[in-house]
Amino acid sequence: MAFDLPALKYDYNALEPHIDARTMEIHHSKHHAGYTAKLNAALAGTDHENSSIDEILKNVDNLGAGIRNNGGGFYNHSLFWSIMSANGGGLPTGLLADAIDTDLGGFEAFKAAFSNAAATQFGSGWAWLCVKDGKLSVCSSANQDNPMMPGVGCGGIPILGLDVWEHAYYLNYQNRRPDYIEAFFNVINWDEVNIRYNAAK
Ligand code: MN
Repeated sequence: MAFDLPALKYDYNALEPHIDARTMEIHHSKHHAGYTAKLNAALAGTDHENSSIDEILKNVDNLGAGIRNNGGGFYNHSLFWSIMSANGGGLPTGLLADAIDTDLGGFEAFKAAFSNAAATQFGSGWAWLCVKDGKLSVCSSANQDNPMMPGVGCGGIPILGLDVWEHAYYLNYQNRRPDYIEAFFNVINWDEVNIRYNAAK
């Protein structure tokens, strides 16, 4: 039972001008496809060949670097595409909006904390909004690690993630990672993040 590269629910140019079509095409059809193929190759013949991706991430300490890096890459990008939309941006919705007020001190405080986590992650990695024990938290992690992996970031279940590898922004933003982070807030699909919040809580 191999993992499939998930199709995007929008065109490669749908997130312009915030994320350009060429970056999206290479990121999805080359990078994410590569993680998916390498994950399948690394799992072939192992006890985890039929495991869910959640199970794989939770047990990743015992599974070797190939499964860790490509399993994280498969999961992280699948989440990333789903929490962006051409009609995104604006403010969080539903119970998530209330929880951001209660747990994180409001939207502006959340945005500052998340942007800081993304900007200060040294080298390649991700910034996250997670649900752990029913509460929201913000963190970052290196490489393709994910907070569902033991001991990574804030722990818990990520409901929003931002890829800060250079491959995610360099064509359009070069070294201006903070501009890319600011632009990301214009494409966040808050309805999807709210759905993931309710499922994780
Ligand atoms: Mn990436």
